[in-house]
Amino acid sequence: MDDLKRLAAEAQDMAPALVAWRRDFHMHPELGFEEVRTAGVAADHLRSLGLEVSAGVGKTGVVAVVEGDDLPPDAPTVLLRFDMDALPIDEENDVPYRSQTPGVMHACGHDGHTAIGMGVAQMLVRHRHSLPGRVKLVFQPAEEGLGGALAMIEDGVLENPAPSASFGMHLWSRLPLNQVIVQPGPLWATAGSFRLAIRGRGGHGAAPHETVDATVVASHIVVAWQSVVARSVDPAQTAVISVGTLYSGDVNNVISGRAELTGTIRTFDPEVEALLKQRMAEIADGVCRAFGATYELTFPFTFPATINSEEGAQLMRRVAQQLVPAEQIAAITPMMVSEDMSEFLNRAPGCYILVGASDPQQGWHSPHHNPTFDFDERVLPTGVALMAGAAIAYLQQQAARSED
Ligand SMILES: [Zn+2]
Ligand SMILES: [Zn+2]
Repeated sequence: MDDLKRLAAEAQDMAPALVAWRRDFHMHPELGFEEVRTAGVAADHLRSLGLEVSAGVGKTGVVAVVEGDDLPPDAPTVLLRFDMDALPIDEENDVPYRSQTPGVMHACGHDGHTAIGMGVAQMLVRHRHSLPGRVKLVFQPAEEGLGGALAMIEDGVLENPAPSASFGMHLWSRLPLNQVIVQPGPLWATAGSFRLAIRGRGGHGAAPHETVDATVVASHIVVAWQSVVARSVDPAQTAVISVGTLYSGDVNNVISGRAELTGTIRTFDPEVEALLKQRMAEIADGVCRAFGATYELTFPFTFPATINSEEGAQLMRRVAQQLVPAEQIAAITPMMVSEDMSEFLNRAPGCYILVGASDPQQGWHSPHHNPTFDFDERVLPTGVALMAGAAIAYLQQQAARSED
């Protein structure tokens, strides 16, 4: 993998183009499943490189495959994923490239990811003659809670050709510039949403004995749920149950017959997640029965935990070692945020990394999803080299194995 070192210099030459692409996306942010312009720019770029493009995959996703020459029928395929969506936030940065769409902003850095994906495409096309397999470039819509990865998977993105591994990255404004976080195991949590609707019997505030008070039932459930993490989950595990909303009643002198709560559950382990859901349902059921209420508990969506395979992390680490100084490669304590890259990793194991992009001296250290979020654009070439390097290294590794 000696030639990987070359990728760093090649990516550096692309820096002006990467910055221009990123700023263009930043000025024209689009919400999940509405990334029509963004997807169009990416697709045009891919076509200009001579690639065949599939557009409209998972609504607004874009896919292209870079293929080596004269591949054997069993040549490996690797997937690289870049997300494209922005957030419903009003940008507060006073920069020449600030969002031109009021109320919408690239506050998570996905503008950078899309630009990096375009750079990776260019670099892989340049090296296609030495690629011992195929690289599927996936520009994904709607990462921010809307399930864009699953939409693309349901639309067949993992078929023809089917990737045996996947790699992805997130630039991270809270880590030093070009620090690379690469580690096996869970990095980010599983995130699930829940909704509990309680049905009692409303009535006059002066005649509580004739009612089933949904407010009282909801209150008991909220308190009892607090014991799930404290008393049902193994203390060596990590879990969160947060009730985000609780609505009940309309008027001060009427006992409410209906209550509704919503919230989020987080953990790293699918077994703990199942336990949380089971205990929440048992408590809701028991409390409602005790008070004579009925209920409906649903978990509208769950993103699985983002878990890197041992082998994927090892490969990614070797790639990073060729591209950045050793002291910039690090690991972190897993975080309770979530990412639907997990949908790809669960089906094609690999590695998801974070690449630091903060520059406190320039004021670039605002957290993600914040109206003053911005990042150091010097991260862009590093992202290109790492992602292109991961694809090349993976294909070389697989090709060497099949020769053995
Ligand atoms: Zn985000
Ligand atoms: Zn993000």
